[in-house]
Amino acid sequence: MKIGFIGLGNMGGPMAANLAKAGHEVIGFDMAPVEIEGVTMAASGAEAAQGAEVVVTMLPNGAILRAVANEIIPAMDKGAAFVDCSTVDVESARTVADQAVNTGLLAVDAPVSGGISGAAGGTLTFMAGGSDAAFAKADPLFDIMGQKAVHCGESGAGQAAKICNNMILGITMVGTCEAIALADKLGLDRQKMFDVVSTSSGYSWTMNAYCPAPGVGPQSPADNDYKPGFAAELMLKDLRLSQKAAEAADADTPMGQRATELYTQFVENEDGLGMDFSAMLPRFEKRGRED
Ligand code: NAD
Repeated sequence: MKIGFIGLGNMGGPMAANLAKAGHEVIGFDMAPVEIEGVTMAASGAEAAQGAEVVVTMLPNGAILRAVANEIIPAMDKGAAFVDCSTVDVESARTVADQAVNTGLLAVDAPVSGGISGAAGGTLTFMAGGSDAAFAKADPLFDIMGQKAVHCGESGAGQAAKICNNMILGITMVGTCEAIALADKLGLDRQKMFDVVSTSSGYSWTMNAYCPAPGVGPQSPADNDYKPGFAAELMLKDLRLSQKAAEAADADTPMGQRATELYTQFVENEDGLGMDFSAMLPRFEKRGRED
């Protein structure tokens, strides 16, 4: 298959490389000068999109996605699929999908979970929104770049699933970190805390698989000085998207709102920028009730 791939950063680069490795002809474009193994670079997004059966985008945000869509949709062949894997607001995802469908294209919003290691290893999870025909067209590529793809519903459903999942993740990480910091102050050994919680009703992915305490549980960014992993500023981006969606849908999300406030404070005023999102634990460790 001839595939256009636009946005070859930390995630898009290895995803495009995996498509090329599987035998597809991949034509890439990025604003920055990048070289990706097996990928032929084009001079513009429109050039990468021309004649492609599928165009995949992996871009920083909704505004950039809209700008790129304006450029590439007119260049794409009728019947081709526009597959956006970026994490963006639900409204941008729906607008771009409508624009694509109205010009005779198939459209899928398919944000991912699994991070940079998932992109490199081809083990991402895709959550997809779009018609059955659009999903069917993109699904073989999801198989190469990932280990699981869930067709969540119509356009925007993939982004909705992603931000709801990550709102749970942000809230759970804050809860796990504040509980470990409380356990410390109550004199509880961290390993004992892990042994109990990871096999009791407080268990969660953040405790069991990504424990924020160094030396406890499986290897995680905590064991590597909290280098990301999943950076706190990316967690904040997703939490902000969840609150924007909640406002638009008139949904009451007090815990999501509080987690957004805490990650804003952490990233903007407390040296959290560039740290893994689990570095909330050393943040809580240093604080008392009045701080
Ligand atoms: P990144 O900044 O490394 O990559 C984005 C790339 O897009 C950059 O190479 C940039 O030069 C390029 N770009 C920007 N504007 C462009 C344009 N107009 N035309 C062409 N290229 C352009 O970011 P990333 O970590 O690869 O993340 C990409 C998306 O994936 C984001 O939406 C992010 O939220 C999402 N995501 C990231 C992770 C992660 O762990 N990094 C995990 C899940 C989802």
